[in-house]
Parts: sequence; structure tokens; C-alpha cells
Amino acid sequence: MKQFVPAAAAVALQITTCLAHASHAEELLPVQIRAPSPAHFSELVANNTLDFGCRPIALPTSDGQFQLQGLLTRDQISWLHGEYSSGEFITVQETVLDKRQTSGKAPIGTGDRFSGGSVAPSGLGTKASTITIASILNVNEINSAITGLVNAYPGAFFKYNLPYTTFQGRTSVAAYTGAGADTSKYRLYLSAGMHARERGGPDNLIYWISDLLAANKSGSGLTYGSKSYTNAQVKSVLNAGIVLFPLVNPDGVVYDQSSGSLWRKNRNTRSGTSGSSIGVDLNRNFDFLWNFRKFFSSSVSPASTSPSSEAFYGTAAESEQETKNHVSIYDKFPGIRWFMDIHSAAGTILYSWGDDVNQSTDPNMNFLNATYDGKRGVTSDTTYKEYIPAADHTAIKRAADATVAGMKGVGSRSYVSQQAVGLYPTSGASDDYAFSRFWAKPGVNKVYGFTMEFGYSTNFYPTTTEFNQNILDTNAGFMEWALTAISVGLQ
Ligand SMILES: [Zn+2]
Repeated sequence: MKQFVPAAAAVALQITTCLAHASHAEELLPVQIRAPSPAHFSELVANNTLDFGCRPIALPTSDGQFQLQGLLTRDQISWLHGEYSSGEFITVQETVLDKRQTSGKAPIGTGDRFSGGSVAPSGLGTKASTITIASILNVNEINSAITGLVNAYPGAFFKYNLPYTTFQGRTSVAAYTGAGADTSKYRLYLSAGMHARERGGPDNLIYWISDLLAANKSGSGLTYGSKSYTNAQVKSVLNAGIVLFPLVNPDGVVYDQSSGSLWRKNRNTRSGTSGSSIGVDLNRNFDFLWNFRKFFSSSVSPASTSPSSEAFYGTAAESEQETKNHVSIYDKFPGIRWFMDIHSAAGTILYSWGDDVNQSTDPNMNFLNATYDGKRGVTSDTTYKEYIPAADHTAIKRAADATVAGMKGVGSRSYVSQQAVGLYPTSGASDDYAFSRFWAKPGVNKVYGFTMEFGYSTNFYPTTTEFNQNILDTNAGFMEWALTAISVGLQ
């Protein structure tokens, strides 16, 4: 039987040894790790060389346990089996979730289904339930879909080029709709495609916006499985003003779609030029406690300083062009009040904060207070907890719960809402950055930040059936999130 506290040193040492011998091209397999409590995983996730997806999340199981999903090499799996095979606390299963290996995964579109923008995308909420979408949008199609909406809804849907070209020289596009040409009137901001391998994220967003515009124009409502929305609700959501940045990381997505390598980061080669050393994790690159070695306890690793890590934080806060583009949207649309970043694959809605457990009693214990540098991120202690005003906590939890209820209401599967810190802290994430701006930059709007992790655990490449189900589930989730935002307040 493993003793958990004494095993910590051995865990770190043995995994380092494993990785030193693993080839960069080595296949990653979805793995399910079970234990009686989230705390049992703390030593495993503390070693940031293992890939636990966007962020490590312990989800409750139907038999009263908790499971942690990972993407591991054969060597790492063997090591885990050796380490925990006789343990009574942690069990490892490597085949149950191995959907990526099946031949039925959704193909990437070839060509351009929108013919350079002469055809507009059309979502699932305005179609018969028997109709499905056959393939995932390629990068060219994501851009032509946006052009198609501009052409189909002149004066109602706008696009513009973001100011920073990517490392490989691509121009990124953002769009806005619902509140006219005055960019100060936009309250909702959604982005997708930050982690390249999370297939279907941009599709979820583009097809939802397409549904809103089509239903608004025709005077109809929307239907996603067992969830339906009236035309009045559609108009209400559009009137809130929606900004969308559907493909944050085009370089990474081009690479992932062509290689099938489960690529997560961007393709910046300044810190590493081959294999896994290429690229920065954009969702650790935002200006929120970015320099984690200063701000967090030395016992946690909310990001990584190693270029070969999936969570490599870059060379400075906002060092990456994609991050700068993402942030620039708050300047162009200063009235943004609600933000959601669309990721996969866990089946969760995450709300603030992500750096430590929330508390609403001590406003001085907060991310700006240098007294607590070096103490943040240990979720099991009371030395530091992140401050959130009680009213804000109530509002964001209400929105997260409503979003989950909408996704469940489609009728296919279960989702859970939880605080982003969950099992383990993160630094430099887009959702925390959004919420932190109000305190870090005097005079800017308060933005509630959320992360949606749609999809099926660690299954970044969905089957065609799952891809379509994800569109239905997320689109109902977006509706509930937006309607709750309107109910809570947009000012
Ligand atoms: Zn992600």
C-alpha cells in the first residue's frame, strides 16, 4: 500500500526519469485515475510534467469516488501502475476512455463549405433534430464562416482584424453583433480555440451565433434537444451585444488539424525549436499572478517554466501575440461585463477564482497584496484564500449553475459547475485575468470570467456524434449563461 505523504519525493523523481526517456512523438493515451477524495490526487498533479488537460479536475463518480483524467505516455502509465498497483487508494484505468483511437472521430473539413463567405453558416438550433454537421471547421472555414455572417447580415454582424499577427504570421479575426456599431455597448465576450487540440470549440461558438442571427431574422426560436428558447429570448441575448473571438490560436489549430498530435500550445519557437519544446500555453500567459514562482507557494506549480511542458507560461505576462489580441478586445469593447472561454474536455463550467479557494471575509487577503506572495495556491490550507465579494460570488455561481442546468437540459449527459481552482491552482489563465482587471486596473469595468469545458473527459477529438452533441449542449449552455447575465445585470 502506498503511503501518500512519504511518496511525494518518489513521485517527482520517477516521473522526471520517465520523461527523460520518452520520445516527443510518443503516443498519449487517455487515462482515468480514481481515488476516494480529490486530496488523494494532490501529489500526482503537483508534478506538472503529467498532462491533465486544461487543468486538473477531480470529478465525482456515481460510486462515490473521484476521478482525475490524464493523457499519459505508455511509460508514464506503466510507472503509475507500478506505483499504485497494490495501493488501496488510487486505481488507474487506461482503456475505458480510449475513444481517440476509434475510427469514428469527426473529420476535419476539406475545402471551404462557405465558399469564401458567399454562404453563411447555419446552426443546429434552427434545424430539424435529425440534421447533423458532418465535419469540424478547418481554419480557413472558421474565417470564411465569419465573412459569411458579415455578408448575410449587413449592418448587424461586424468583423475586424485583431492588431497582432501570430508567430507564423496569421491575422486573427474578432466579430461582434447585436448592439450595433457602437463598440461601447457590448456586454458579452466569448472566445474559443485557445488550446489547439480541443476540437469543436470554434464550431460551438460560430454555430450558436449563426442560430441567434437566423432566429432573430425569421422571428423564430431555437431548439437544442429538450431545451427550447423563444424568439424574445433570442432577441434579448443579441441585444446584450456579443463579441466573439472564435479562433484564438490559429497556428496551433493548423498544426493540430494537420498532425493529429493532440497539440495544445501555440507554435512560438523562441523558447524551443523542436517537438514538445515548441509553443506557449496561452492559458498560462495572461497577466494574472503570471510570475507564479513569486506569487505562489513553492509547493505548487500552477504553470511551468519549462518550454517542453504543456503548461509553459512563456517569457513574460502577455508575451504572446494571441494573448495580446485576446486582451485588446477589452480595450475596444470597454463595456464587456461577462466573459466565457470555451475549452474541452471535462464537462464542467468553472467560475472564479482559479488561484486559491474563495473567501469573502477578508478583503485584504487578495491577489494584489504582496504580504501573501509565496503563500498562494495551497488549497488545503488557510494561510491564503482569494477574496471575492459575497455578491459577486453569488452572481457567478448562479450563472455557472444555470449554464450547467441548460447543458443537462438538452437531455444527453451530465455536467458540473465548480470553482476554477478545483483540485489545483492555475496562474495566468484567461478567466482569472478577466475578473482581476477590475482590481488591477483602476477605472475598467468588472468582468465576470468563466471557463466552459465542454465534451467528454480527455476526449479532445470527438466522434461525429459527440461533436454534434457538443454543439447542442454548449449552445443551450450559452443561452442560459447569457440569459442569466442579463438577469443578474449587464452594467
Ligand atoms: Zn483548454
